[in-house]
Amino acid sequence: MIPYGRQNVNAADIDAVLQVLQSDWLTTGPGVERFEQQLAQTAAVSQAVAVSSGTAALHCAMASIEVQPGDEVIVPAMTFVATANTVVMQGGRPVFADVLPGSLLLDPQSVNALIGPRTKAVVGVDYAGLACDYRALREACRDRWLVADASHSLGGHQDGRPVGCLADLTTFSFHPVKPITCGEGGALVTDRPELAEAARRFRNHGLSADAASRDRQQTWVYEMQSLGFNYRLTDIQCALGLSQLARLDAFINRRREIAARYRQAFSDCSAIQPLAGDSHGHAYHLFVIQVSGERETWFKKFRRRGIGVNVHYLPVHLHAYYRQHYQTGVGMCPVAEAAYERMLSLPIYPAMTDAQVDEVIETALSVAEELGG
Ligand SMILES: *Cc1c(COP(=O)(O)O)cnc(C)c1O
Repeated sequence: MIPYGRQNVNAADIDAVLQVLQSDWLTTGPGVERFEQQLAQTAAVSQAVAVSSGTAALHCAMASIEVQPGDEVIVPAMTFVATANTVVMQGGRPVFADVLPGSLLLDPQSVNALIGPRTKAVVGVDYAGLACDYRALREACRDRWLVADASHSLGGHQDGRPVGCLADLTTFSFHPVKPITCGEGGALVTDRPELAEAARRFRNHGLSADAASRDRQQTWVYEMQSLGFNYRLTDIQCALGLSQLARLDAFINRRREIAARYRQAFSDCSAIQPLAGDSHGHAYHLFVIQVSGERETWFKKFRRRGIGVNVHYLPVHLHAYYRQHYQTGVGMCPVAEAAYERMLSLPIYPAMTDAQVDEVIETALSVAEELGG
């Protein structure tokens, strides 16, 4: 089976991890800071906070802007559940906005219609790897916090600016299918030192100082000022992340090559429509197509022929939890709902060979023909 996504780990990555295992610090050591510095540089911001997952990064983001009971946070319906769940974890209420039909990115007009006195923040999701129009979102969200869930888009650009500096706060995920991996991991980046400081406390039980800084200052003193979690990322994981980060541009370039081959191959096939957004800044975490006819039939035919297609995502407001607890349901975000019915994610990852890409293309075109496209 050709999977829809997969990590790319080489000998240098393995060496980096082995070195840490033989060093003094397995966690909260110098490797974390090295990774954070490199991430901040990649994102063109001053602050990076490495945490244990992309979900933890979003939770830290919601905590650092002080989302609390009574607050609403606008999130797009077309995203992974964690974008909304982390609002709930802080006691806030996620408000689901619709997306643009071509790109499935958060629609600024939908934000405009939903924003109100309780709105604390707006979260843009760089779905599939394409950055949202943060200028339009900034205008739509007025003086509220603008957060970017960039789990898909590390390494992407917009108007020459890297993903990571386009919103007040940006979060990344380092799960194996994401642009780079730490096994599990995530990070929050920002140009605001006070938000980064709040996130650093939140990842370490709400304590005022971590073990390394107590060590440096020759003191045992620490104080818990607010409630936090253990969301720390180990030096072992950071070493892998740092080594991966060195190849980020090569990874993204390969993803773009594969996307270009897909676009070229499907340009004459009316039954297969790739999402809009053939932009140079695209990070292509996913290659999403919209198919004609029964998506389920397409899905089964691909899977039977060894092509690991997937569906990203069931709109979050249609999950049982949100229907039950937030009275959401069909009809709230019609663009996201209609897109969901027709979508498939084709395999795309840096180590994918041209032969594998051709296999996906041939299968897709032959399924299209069988189904009368
Ligand atoms: C992967 C992902 C997350 C969560 O990241 P984890 O590292 O798996 O916790 C959040 N939002 C989006 C859009 C994602 O794709």
